[in-house]
Amino acid sequence: VNIHFCPECGAALARESTAQGARPRAFCPRCRSRPRAYPMIVVTCFIACGQRLLWMRRALPPKAGYWAIPGGFLERGESLAEGAARELREETGVVLPPARLQLYMVGTITFINQVYVAFRAQVDRDVALPGAESLEVGFFSREECPWGQVAYPEVNDAIEQAYRDLATGQFEVWHAEMTERGYQRRAVATGQPPGVLPTRL
Ligand SMILES: [Zn+2]
Repeated sequence: VNIHFCPECGAALARESTAQGARPRAFCPRCRSRPRAYPMIVVTCFIACGQRLLWMRRALPPKAGYWAIPGGFLERGESLAEGAARELREETGVVLPPARLQLYMVGTITFINQVYVAFRAQVDRDVALPGAESLEVGFFSREECPWGQVAYPEVNDAIEQAYRDLATGQFEVWHAEMTERGYQRRAVATGQPPGVLPTRL
C-alpha cells in the first residue's frame, strides 16, 4: 500500500533510501514522521445471550446490507477493550463496561493487512438497538443466523468457533491466523467461565 500524504500533517511525502539497496521509505519533509503501511487494528465483540450471538446489519459501505459481528477500527487513545466497547455501543446500543469484555481471539488477517482482537461477553437480555451504522441488529443462534448474507465470509470459521464454544461452555483464548490459505488456530489459554468474570471497573 503506497501512501502519498502524511497522515500526521497532510504534507506530500518524499522518499529516501536508508541504506544501499534498501527499499526507499516514505518520510514527511514537514514533520519528519515516517509513515508506513502498518496493519490496522480491528476490535470485535462476540456478545452472547444464551446460545445466540449478537449480529448487526451494516448500513454503510463496504458491504452495506450485509450482516457482521459488531466491530471496527481501534481509534487513537483507546485501549483494545475500550475500542471494542465503543463499537459495540455505536453499532448495537449494547452498553458494556470495557472491563466486562474478556479477551477471546487474537490474530492477523494478512491479506487485508489487519490485526484483529476479539472480545466476548455474556448478557442476560437480548435487547439491542441499531445505531447510525446499522440497519438491524439481532441475536441469532447458529441455525438462525444469515450465513448467506454475511459481510465477511472469510471470518466464518471464527464465528463457527464462537458458536461451538458457546455450545460446550468452554471458552479458550484463541490465537487464530487468517491467511488466503485458510483459518488456523490454537488455544493459548483457557478462559474462566462467564459466571466468575470480574464485573467492577
Ligand atoms: Zn508530516
